[in-house]
Amino acid sequence: ADWAAAVAAVHGLPAGGTVLLVCHVNPDGDALGSMLGMALGLRRLGITQLQATFPGATAGSGDDGYAGPPEVPEPFRWLPGLDLLVPAADAYPAPDLFLCFDAASASRLGGLADRLGTAGAAVVLDHHASNTRFGGIHLVDPGAAATSVVAEGLLNRLEVPLDAEIAQCLYVALATDTGSFRFDMTTPAVHEMAARLIATGISPGVISRRIFDTRPFGAVRLYGDVLQRAKLEPEAAGGVGLVWTYATLDDLARHGQKPYVLEALIDSVRCAAEADVSCVVKQAGPGEWAVSMRSKGAVDVSRVAVALGGGGHRLAAGFTGRGSVDDVIGSIRAELRGA
Ligand code: 5GP
Ligand code: MN
Ligand code: MN
Repeated sequence: ADWAAAVAAVHGLPAGGTVLLVCHVNPDGDALGSMLGMALGLRRLGITQLQATFPGATAGSGDDGYAGPPEVPEPFRWLPGLDLLVPAADAYPAPDLFLCFDAASASRLGGLADRLGTAGAAVVLDHHASNTRFGGIHLVDPGAAATSVVAEGLLNRLEVPLDAEIAQCLYVALATDTGSFRFDMTTPAVHEMAARLIATGISPGVISRRIFDTRPFGAVRLYGDVLQRAKLEPEAAGGVGLVWTYATLDDLARHGQKPYVLEALIDSVRCAAEADVSCVVKQAGPGEWAVSMRSKGAVDVSRVAVALGGGGHRLAAGFTGRGSVDDVIGSIRAELRGA
């Protein structure tokens, strides 16, 4: 990783230099947590011209005491550093320093990817094996359990001490991407990092309840509908067992729910013992679907996702599907047959 170049880019900022931090579209806990943890760290260094955003972020109304972009999912609306978030349209057009988080490809940055060309320096912090090595300075570690591991590495090299606010952000990111320290990449180093974060005084119980275990009642009923229609195909493709379901915008509307409540749906689906691969197809618009895939180990779903225009990790990947649900599932079956 280009640690020295990244540190030099931060230290080389001119007085009053502008810094723009961006994470991937439809941000998850790792995207928001690693970005905001780093933003807080840069603020500790005395950097004041500091903005964070993500594709699609708009201006908040200030209702309910929350003034940030309405696109930040409710479970994350308590994170420290949310005050640094700006609408994507207001982001510095040509920042002196551009940092991006948890994006495997420039396309995950939407229109904000143009800063890769206009910024004085562009640092990519990521952990996807499928990272396309876009941008100038690469802090890409496919062995890292979360982008926040990379972010902590950079903060450490910038000699920013961890405080409870930074730690809350990085902990959310780490807990999200390790599935609460259950997935294979939960290494000794992951637990050591968690120990450093918890030692700042943060509460894993409170954080976990907020981000994983607090949803509107309507989300419970929505899960009932969507799980009811799950399909098991024990021999979907070349002997690979597939379990899948889908959720439409109408399903969300019927239960008065927002798309973020479906993020954990894949966890309920993937526990089917008969299936090697699981899949959830979530409608994003007319004929447009956000697809989540998981593997139990034998199948590399990131290969399937990359072949279909997305990306991710061996055991967890996704892509944007087009057409009908049958079209999307059909394309996955075809790729599984070839994989
Ligand atoms: P999830 O299913 O939790 O949304 O995503 C699982 C993994 O797949 C994450 O690492 C995420 O970055 C990746 N992923 C999900 N959707 C997409 C997508 O549309 N494009 C790309 N490139 N990666 C995706
Ligand atoms: Mn992510
Ligand atoms: Mn991640």
